[in-house]
Amino acid sequence: MPAPPPAAPQARRRRLAAALPSAIAAVPAWAAVPARSAASEAWFLVALLALALFVTLLFWSRGLRQQRRQAEQQAIALRRLRQQLDLVLAHSGDVYWELDLPGGVLHRQGIQRLVGPGAPDDIALARWREEAVHPDDLEPLRQQVERHASGETEVFESEHRLRCEDGSWRWVRARGRIIERDAAGRPVRMAGITRDIQALRSAERETRVAYEVFRSMSEAVSVVGPDFTFVAVNPAFSRITGYAEEEVLGKPASLLDSSQHSSEYYQRVRSIALRSGHWSGEMWQRRKDGGDFLSWIELSEVRDRLGQRTHFVAVVDDITQKKRAEQELRYLANYDTLTGLPNRTLLAERLSRAIIRARRQESRVAVLFIDLDHFKDINDSLGHAAGDRLLKAAAARLQAAVGPTDTVARLGGDEFTIIVEDLDSVAAAERLAGELIAAFAAPLEVDERHRVGITPSIGISLYPDHAMVPTDLLKFADTAMYQAKARGRNTFEVYDEAMDAESRRRATLLAALRRALAQEEFRLVFQPRFSLRSERVVGVEALLRWRSAELGEVGPAQFIPLAEESGLILGIGEWVLREACRTLRQWQDAGLGEIACSINVSVLQLLRAPLAEQLAAILAETGIAPGRIELELTESVVMQNAEQARAVLDRLRGLGVRLAIDDFGTGYSSLVYLKRLPIDTLKIDKEFIGDLTDDPDDKAITATVITMAHSLGLHVVAEGVETEAQLAYLRGQGCDEVQGYLLSPPLEAAHAFGFIRERQAARRLDQPAA
Ligand code: C2E
Ligand code: MG
Ligand code: MG
Repeated sequence: MPAPPPAAPQARRRRLAAALPSAIAAVPAWAAVPARSAASEAWFLVALLALALFVTLLFWSRGLRQQRRQAEQQAIALRRLRQQLDLVLAHSGDVYWELDLPGGVLHRQGIQRLVGPGAPDDIALARWREEAVHPDDLEPLRQQVERHASGETEVFESEHRLRCEDGSWRWVRARGRIIERDAAGRPVRMAGITRDIQALRSAERETRVAYEVFRSMSEAVSVVGPDFTFVAVNPAFSRITGYAEEEVLGKPASLLDSSQHSSEYYQRVRSIALRSGHWSGEMWQRRKDGGDFLSWIELSEVRDRLGQRTHFVAVVDDITQKKRAEQELRYLANYDTLTGLPNRTLLAERLSRAIIRARRQESRVAVLFIDLDHFKDINDSLGHAAGDRLLKAAAARLQAAVGPTDTVARLGGDEFTIIVEDLDSVAAAERLAGELIAAFAAPLEVDERHRVGITPSIGISLYPDHAMVPTDLLKFADTAMYQAKARGRNTFEVYDEAMDAESRRRATLLAALRRALAQEEFRLVFQPRFSLRSERVVGVEALLRWRSAELGEVGPAQFIPLAEESGLILGIGEWVLREACRTLRQWQDAGLGEIACSINVSVLQLLRAPLAEQLAAILAETGIAPGRIELELTESVVMQNAEQARAVLDRLRGLGVRLAIDDFGTGYSSLVYLKRLPIDTLKIDKEFIGDLTDDPDDKAITATVITMAHSLGLHVVAEGVETEAQLAYLRGQGCDEVQGYLLSPPLEAAHAFGFIRERQAARRLDQPAA
């Protein structure tokens, strides 16, 4: 602020001016020229006055000169001051400002360095507010000015943003004070310094953000010195380890060492960090409560500006849960959850490894593909929960049969696979398959009430005999398994190349079979049954025939198992029931009212179709007396599912139809047990009858079966009678009925009708009608 001009010269001038009149008054009287003349007196006075005026002017101009010199000196001083201020401002980067409140102008010095070279030194306050200050900061800025003006604060201080020439905003801090007030005490001028704090603000913000991140991180973060003592920890650290910050500060990081690693391990980790500045990996650590947790640690050094290592920061992620979940996932990916056995993925992996080992040791690996026979029927009739328990029991039995070192896997459904290593021959694999089948001879315990008999069909393939890679070995074992099924189930087959052709043939057969019913390719043939007591044809057995448009005549031995496996037997079976009854009805209408008919029924029909209801409807539809129908069920199938079968058999019996056990002797059921079922008839299998005259054992068995069956009140039929000798023997043993080529092969319906007519007239079987 320019100082007011010094008052002294003016005062002196005024004093001089005031003194002049008295000085003039003090002129002595002798100086007066007494009445020399009035004119000369006047001249004298004028001259005196002029002199006085001249002297006064002389003083005045001298004073002016002095004044000008002083002003010049002041201006020089001021300029120097400004230059010095400029220098200081340039060094500090600060801006000096002065606010002229009545004038509404802001004077600035050095503002260009802050916001850009075009910024004017002076700016109207209103414009400054409008253009230069960030709108959000105006109000706080105004409040700060007010607080200072009201005397609340000794110094005015504000942090606000100023607009730069390029449009960006810069944070500044302004400090100042009121330097002049008017008489009423109102502020007139304010002055101060404005400083660029953009970098400071950013750094502060960064620090604040870093600190917030540190505090809010879900990973435990600890800062340790180069000696691995704790310097700082975050809340997550306390949460994970159980240690509060004050409990660990200054303590060594080894506080967290767990006994899961040796102390050398931890030392090694720390020395790696010291050497390389970094370490990361999984590490067990110990909580305050003594519990261990598995962590993933990232340990990194922190260096100062001079590049000196000052700290290490450890970021610790508790991965105990993650690891557990990972293990569970791995388990899920590799194991079957129901049985706990390895699944297809793990099987393939183990098989690959087994092959590699076998190649090295020049040994064999066998793959046994196992499918449980008729599992689906049991599952459907017992319910899925029981089905699951059955699978578990089967899994346990398989594992027990092979021992803990061989891999038993479940591929899904009722399919299991076993890998057997170190085999020296194919025979060894066959032996094992035989043992597995024997292991399933005893029924499986599903629960306290249910014991279910189930048999396996097993296919075997071997490395290197059949294939060199896992996929082929599995495929071939599967093919062999199908072959075992086709051969009657409850058996095993070793793969051979011909089977591939066989499996292709099966696929073609199945495709044709699916169309057979709609294309009306089925028909029934009828084989007469003779009573050895009445010596007459008493009935027929309906036997299914299929003439395929593509494949020609296909025997039931080929297509019945396929129809059962595919479920097609349900529709086909119903057709057979209806067709047999319709034929009987035709014969009845033509005068053959007494002839009975045996109809073969598949286990699938027994367990899955509403067989009793179906049959009742067909009987009503065709008007056939139920007593003329006998349903034939295969022995082994009925025995394995006796409990489920029983309810259906009772219902069928309730309808008044008769029930027969077909192919008796091929299974292993006891006669006494059979009698508990509502059975009327036993059909001795043709295998026994065929060998009857050559094999004394078969002779004895047949005789015993006939005697025992009779004692249990069962009717006995011998099937497959081909010779007179067989017939004679059976007659001698008191067999009730016979059936076989000797008497008649199965006949087309019309032939059968004619045959029966003809024979009914004859007296004896071996006596052709006249
Ligand atoms: P199965 O019920 O035991 O039928 C007797 C089989 O023995 C018939 O074979 C018959 O032709 C044959 N056979 C009859 N007499 C003799 C003989 O003296 N010597 C010999 N070696 N065989 C004789 P087919 O017709 O080939 O039937 C085979 C099997 O197919 C039947 O055995 C039966 O289990 C099944 N089957 C036939 N038709 C049906 C059907 O409609 N439904 C069901 N589910 N199965 C059927
Ligand atoms: Mg039969
Ligand atoms: Mg039979």
